Amino acid sequence: MNTFEQLYIDGNWINSQGGDTLDVINPATAEVYATVPSANKQDVELAVAAAKRAFGEWSVQPTAVRAAMINAIADGMEARKDELIESIVGSMGCPISIAEDIQVQGSIDALRSFAVLAPEMDKQETFDSHIVLSEAVGVCVLINPWNYPLSQLVGKLGPALAAGCTVVVKPAEQTPLQDLILADIINQTPLPKGVFNLLTGVGSQIGEVLCSHPDVDMVSFTGSTQAGIKVAQSAAPTVKRVCQELGGKSPFIIAPGADLNAAVRYGVEDIMINTGQSCNALARMLVPAEQLKDVERIAISVANEWQLGDPRDIDTNMGPLSSHLQQSRVLAYIEKGIAEGATLLCGGTDVAKELSKGAYVAPTIFSNVSNDMTIAQEEIFGPVLCIIPYDDIEQAIAIANDTQFGLSSAVYAAERKSAIEIAKKLRAGQCYLQGAYFNSDAPFGGYKQSGNGREWGLDGLKEYTETKALLIDTEAK
Ligand code: NAD
Repeated sequence: MNTFEQLYIDGNWINSQGGDTLDVINPATAEVYATVPSANKQDVELAVAAAKRAFGEWSVQPTAVRAAMINAIADGMEARKDELIESIVGSMGCPISIAEDIQVQGSIDALRSFAVLAPEMDKQETFDSHIVLSEAVGVCVLINPWNYPLSQLVGKLGPALAAGCTVVVKPAEQTPLQDLILADIINQTPLPKGVFNLLTGVGSQIGEVLCSHPDVDMVSFTGSTQAGIKVAQSAAPTVKRVCQELGGKSPFIIAPGADLNAAVRYGVEDIMINTGQSCNALARMLVPAEQLKDVERIAISVANEWQLGDPRDIDTNMGPLSSHLQQSRVLAYIEKGIAEGATLLCGGTDVAKELSKGAYVAPTIFSNVSNDMTIAQEEIFGPVLCIIPYDDIEQAIAIANDTQFGLSSAVYAAERKSAIEIAKKLRAGQCYLQGAYFNSDAPFGGYKQSGNGREWGLDGLKEYTETKALLIDTEAK
């Protein structure tokens, strides 16, 4: 078991003021994997004060200095990649066979992309009567969930540092370890004290004091829509900026004439990766009704390729869900889908006896789902695909948009041009065409109740900036 005893505040490892701790449970075994401090309100005060003190000096550092610091952190992550992988395997059950690819290496590369973007902060637009420039927004609280814990941290920390902000980071209760390793990496770099502060702890206990704090200028929150609403409510009285990256129930339209084998394979793999715990997962597959039988056959065969099991076994490519609580939520949705009359093609509520201690759910596919069923409307956040038949493409677009969410979407058509035409009609922040994959240079974020911010790329950097106008009297010297 790993024991982490201290929080990282103002460039130092210090004891939590309350002395409380939090157990991190390995979801594959239900055993305690690590213990970390559980921060309290006094710790929040110390961390915010440190971030506020550091802001003045850090925000005016040349962008080349900030970029060098980001690269130094990325170098440290590269050197401790094995530890980062182990922490994610042990705390969230991501299979070791895919953890480097989907959780760690991409995060290191994406962090470096913000070193490249940092000089954007030096740009200004000059007009006849005024100049427009960007400045760092200030002290930022960064709150993350557990599904891609390192990537989500980097997606906030990278642009915050590039812009010149200082941060207080709060990882999910289930997955604090990669953040603690990152704090240790940062401790070895010359990043000025107070720029990065880490509080491990329980969101429902310290979230409100963090988000309502008058010295915090911005909260960037990724997580469930319910918690996102609470964050916005806590933040509202101090009129701070709130960037919300929330849930999804993304549609995938397979248009008539698309390569059915390739499209269905793509859709099934997309929902199953990371045991279905991707906010942008293509959870609803919309298919031409006359091709439903073929779609079902291909989908079952692709689902059967997934190897559910011990995340430390190199042959496993689907581990447990990240907690037993999440497992019980997903199983309840599967029962609901059966009760609502959807056709269960594979998976369901049974898993092999030897996996019964872990938070496992088998790859599950429902067909003949109608879009008004609970399993088509609510985010399940597990390896559960809903196949929904449609009669014509206009109906498919209407079904795709008939959701409270708008995070992602995808279209597979006979050719790119018609896929783009369909994509333009979808109300979602991203649309993946013809089998495309996540790309951390492209802006990512939601329409509707999936959120209001953008992460990654230049748009991600801009979230951490204020726009300033310098108005000039053209007659004056
Ligand atoms: P969650 O909302 O329960 O927790 C997320 C974080 O919020 C945790 O760090 C938690 O401690 C904190 N938190 C909880 N209550 C809080 C409060 N009142 N104030 C402040 N912080 C609080 O979400 P989860 O179950 O950890 O994650 C799954 C959800 O995250 C899914 O809905 C998923 O779609 C969403 N998600 C969205 C994106 C995106 O970019 N849009 C990415 C990944 C996950």
